[in-house]
Amino acid sequence: MTTNTIGHWVDGKPFAGTSDRTAEVTNPATGEVTGRVALADLDDARAVIAAAASAFPAWRDTSLAKRTSILFAFRELLNSRKDELAAIITAEHGKVLSDALGEISRGQEVVEFACGIPHLLKGGFTENASTKVDVFSIRQPLGPVGIISPFNFPAMVPMWFFPVAIACGNTVVLKPSEKDPTASIWLAELWKEAGLPDGVFNVLQGDKLAVDELLESRAIKSISFVGSTPIAEYVYSTGTANGKRVQALGGAKNHAIVLPDADLDLAADAMVNAGFGSAGERCMAISALVAVGDVADDLVAKIVERTTPLRTGDGTRGSDMGPLVTKAHRDKVASYVDAGENDGATVVVDGRGVQADGDPNGFWLGPTLLDHVTPEMSVYTDEIFGPVLSVVRVETYDDALQLINDNPYGNGTAIFTNDGGAARRFQNEVEVGMVGINVPIPVPMAYYSFGGWKNSLFGDTHAHGTEGVHFFTRGKAVTARWLDPSHGGINLGFPQND
Ligand code: NAD
Repeated sequence: MTTNTIGHWVDGKPFAGTSDRTAEVTNPATGEVTGRVALADLDDARAVIAAAASAFPAWRDTSLAKRTSILFAFRELLNSRKDELAAIITAEHGKVLSDALGEISRGQEVVEFACGIPHLLKGGFTENASTKVDVFSIRQPLGPVGIISPFNFPAMVPMWFFPVAIACGNTVVLKPSEKDPTASIWLAELWKEAGLPDGVFNVLQGDKLAVDELLESRAIKSISFVGSTPIAEYVYSTGTANGKRVQALGGAKNHAIVLPDADLDLAADAMVNAGFGSAGERCMAISALVAVGDVADDLVAKIVERTTPLRTGDGTRGSDMGPLVTKAHRDKVASYVDAGENDGATVVVDGRGVQADGDPNGFWLGPTLLDHVTPEMSVYTDEIFGPVLSVVRVETYDDALQLINDNPYGNGTAIFTNDGGAARRFQNEVEVGMVGINVPIPVPMAYYSFGGWKNSLFGDTHAHGTEGVHFFTRGKAVTARWLDPSHGGINLGFPQND
């Protein structure tokens, strides 16, 4: 098979760049190298940023009516051609096709939210704040903005940001993950087809060098980053030190509490879906199941019942769960299972020897359930990012809450109970940004904002929703005197209202 080269997208067209550095792109279900992605050098990065900078003045001045019509066109094209994008995601990420379609639909919801931008950008107006003086507020775009995204949602995560950024009048440089870069180019082509002017949406392929240039370039006004916690922290500190507005979403270790009064069938279904969906490579995956009181034995049995028939295999063959993204990642996740076993956890379902429905060279690891996990084990302390669900047994609700609140991550969490009072207490007391009540993956709708607490987000603005609009604009307050603009003559005192 000949490998294709995946380059950048600049000024409405493909751009090869001058760098001779590339990285392999593989199909995780076959282990085959299917392409090589360009890794930008400094000149490439600067060329992409320059395109976004020169497109900004005209796009900023483009009417809201025109911007909105392009967003609607983009939404229609995306909706009608999402199968193409899903196939690209499955081929490079490995997640099963239905899951890939799910991520596109969640991204599309942000496009739909951004279609309402004229309403979202309305400012305030105060007539006669002082005699014959009016005051009003407007929100204006920042300029060219940088978006740096992770491998696990090559379409949805960029779409958390770019529809809102573009709708607000900014131009974009997207730096996708080098593991699955093709979705970004497909999205760029779609924008062109939707009528977006050249240079408004650009793609810069690359690694740390490209990221560093985005963080340092004076032209780039903000950074929206999603990825692992150490890189999020680095991006936040470097970006803000360079005077940029930064939102940097990091890693996660999501807990679900199951109380003794919960519907255990519902909870077991939810644990399997949230633990093993997308092979656990979701920042909202449940990786720690906190079983309260005497609930664990029955719950573990129900989870085993549901896990055993799951089919791990090629995402194009109707499997339940696909491979992990790379061989190195597959081996790392398997090594955590080894470590958990050595530390004394019980391996109730072992995915290490899975018979996958797929090429033997695929990066397979089946669903894995570990019981009697304790908080000091590495399988509990670290973000594993694989299909490994750990059961931690505790005596009381308070023990469970303490465990979650002591955890350095705070992305998502869930409680399973039939007790409204317990659920309400949990939503109030838990130190986590997104909370599910009998819902295992509480990803907020586009018109709410997505974001975690603690080491799961650096910065104070969550993604999309009104927080997204706020992030991609800055406020201006105007004080105006019209009609009979009489002045009071010379007066060096501070202006007072009358
Ligand atoms: P990653 O941190 O390795 O990479 C993310 C991005 O940073 C990529 O574009 C990558 O090219 C770039 N990058 C990698 N190393 C860099 C470096 N040293 N300097 C500068 N840039 C660098 O993350 P990943 O493995 O692609 O994605 C998985 C991680 O993302 C998990 O930790 C997951 O929890 C997290 N994630 C978080 C959320 C959230 O909403 N909080 C959502 C999705 C994924």
